[in-house]
Amino acid sequence: MEDRIVELGMKLLENTAKALRANNFSAEVHASGAEAAAALLRLAGSGKRIGLGGSMTVASLGLPAALEKAGNTIVTHSHGMPAEERRAVWLAAQASDIYLASPQAVTLDGKLLFVDSNGNRGAAVIYGPRKIVLLAGVNKLARDEQQGLWRARNVAAIANNLRLAKDNPCVKAGRCVDCASPSRICNQVTTLWKRPWSSDILVMLINEELGY
Ligand code: SF4
Repeated sequence: MEDRIVELGMKLLENTAKALRANNFSAEVHASGAEAAAALLRLAGSGKRIGLGGSMTVASLGLPAALEKAGNTIVTHSHGMPAEERRAVWLAAQASDIYLASPQAVTLDGKLLFVDSNGNRGAAVIYGPRKIVLLAGVNKLARDEQQGLWRARNVAAIANNLRLAKDNPCVKAGRCVDCASPSRICNQVTTLWKRPWSSDILVMLINEELGY
């Protein structure tokens, strides 16, 4: 990235971190994905059960393998897992020591937005895990909730439809058409306006484009 864009990204992230803290979240700003990954590995240590919320940001930083290598156990569903096993894994992830996920949008006034298909991630980021760590690249910033929701549907959801080879109408249209498709992946919106009182949530903002 060009130097001034890097500087602007840091400024936007610092301001957003301040807004997140005002909403009772813990927040850190990291200059790169590698720096955030190192901080997360230090925080996790070893011997923990780490639940994953299906985040491309977490995957792109190589965190599942690095956390396992450090002696942690990853709790996550996998593609093609039978429904009952998947349900058991989701519940186990919700009771993990650390839960890792990424919002589809972080608003400049410090709110976090998630749009999900099944709701396991939405449930986990509200309540359950001992510690919740949410990683977000600078590309996840949105002016407000409305723009965040637009981003979740017209950027993140379409990219996820492509990744999962879902033949939903947005893939052809290049925009969300609020479909009634049986394979629709956008079924719930979870918005954290402020930190739920009994949940320990750290947001790691990263000055790099990560995930979608
Ligand atoms: S068209 Fe359907 S699957 Fe695609 S983004 Fe919109 S609601 Fe989600």
